[in-house]
Amino acid sequence: MKVLKFGGTSVGKPERMHAVAKLITADPDAKIVVLSALSGTTNALVEIGQSCSEGKKAQAKQQIDKLESHYRAFVQELVKTDAGRENAKAIVDEHFEFLNIILKISFNEALNKDILAQGELLSTKLFCAYLEEAGVNAVLAPALDFMSIDEFEEPEIPRMKVRLSALIDQNKGQTLFITQGYICRNARGEIDNLKRGGSDYSASLIGAAIQASEVQIWTDIDGMHNNDPRVVKKTFPIDQLSFDEAAELAYFGAKILHPASIWPAQHFNIPVKLLNTLQPEAKGTIITEMPNGNGVKAIAAKDGIIAIKIKSSRMLLAYGFLRKIFEVFEKYRTPIDMITTSEVAVSITIDDQRNLDQILKELQPFGTVELDHHQAIVSIVGNEVAATPSILKKLFEALNEVPLRMISYGGSRHNISILVGGQHKEKTLQLLNKGLFNLE
Ligand code: ADP
Ligand code: ASP
Ligand code: MG
Repeated sequence: MKVLKFGGTSVGKPERMHAVAKLITADPDAKIVVLSALSGTTNALVEIGQSCSEGKKAQAKQQIDKLESHYRAFVQELVKTDAGRENAKAIVDEHFEFLNIILKISFNEALNKDILAQGELLSTKLFCAYLEEAGVNAVLAPALDFMSIDEFEEPEIPRMKVRLSALIDQNKGQTLFITQGYICRNARGEIDNLKRGGSDYSASLIGAAIQASEVQIWTDIDGMHNNDPRVVKKTFPIDQLSFDEAAELAYFGAKILHPASIWPAQHFNIPVKLLNTLQPEAKGTIITEMPNGNGVKAIAAKDGIIAIKIKSSRMLLAYGFLRKIFEVFEKYRTPIDMITTSEVAVSITIDDQRNLDQILKELQPFGTVELDHHQAIVSIVGNEVAATPSILKKLFEALNEVPLRMISYGGSRHNISILVGGQHKEKTLQLLNKGLFNLE
């Protein structure tokens, strides 16, 4: 069985949904199709939740009405028969009735997660309505019945495996399952999600749970490019990446993949393909265990990073100092991305700020703590990249005019990372495109 995930732009217009239907029915292979919300919907739902949390009911109402008109127009083009339209209307009615009810009840975080889930619920139900109209036999498999995370927000693959096997068994002979990306249930049984961009992660987790033969991530670009195409003019798609390379790129900011979306596939050695819905014949990128050659493959950047410097003369010739500092981050389940040390100071970067205040409080006894907000990690990724001849010379030459805050070299065979002020991120990506790929 294969897993195919289609992102927001791939289902964002009625004609795009029609094209997805064509794509998934082109071959008879059994598949689970994971859909995102229509593009723009999750952003709109975030705004609605925000307005509700601030008690701005009138503003929330306006935002809900705007989204509703978008869906009313969408379904007019999506389905054409009376039965199809009736079906689609009932779906839109149901979900907008829910969104209107939330205006009348008191807001809390659990309710916010319910709001955020509406996008994927709508897209999958509407897609199924279209498939029905088109005479395509498919089963809607509700993600909320099988996708779950534990109290630490970690996915529960073994449980998903049991529930998905049961679901597939109950539908013997069925070859097409449609499900929602992004949404899941948490340890309290409430509706939750896998964070923004989480549908890629859903696809990879489902792939792992059913031991799929392949996971395909269909999006609006022909694979992983060598640099961020939103920032750099000339970029090109990479044919092949190893899991390690793709995981580093995803984690360090290549938006085409959710940061955690590679490990489940990697763990079960399931190939991942990145493909373009707008250009289905393009080769895209294939991600497998084996690296395809050494050296620089791609550059990615992650912003919103905080650098924390802890300076203390007690660190001098002392052991156990770093352990104590790391324990603070462990206690608050906050991953550290980069670290550099000198005899009397250590600098650490994090991007999860949720527990920053407590972390800073607990670091105080260790020395002077300084913070730099709005930093960006720029990562140069590729198998054995650190061993590439003259790589550092090229890097430093290219970035001659950019102030570097930290550099991490040798920590991983696949990654060299630098920390720059967020305001220098775009320039850094552009200069590295010239310096490492000879492209403007
Ligand atoms: P989807 O809605 O299909 O999940 P996303 O917007 O999340 O799509 O991801 C695709 C986008 O990722 C592309 O349109 C592109 O602008 C952006 N992107 C950022 N870095 C890269 C990269 N290195 N290679 C390809 N796309 C990238
Ligand atoms: N709809 C969700 C988002 O926009 C999940 C996804 O598209 O992957 O973040
Ligand atoms: Mg995405």
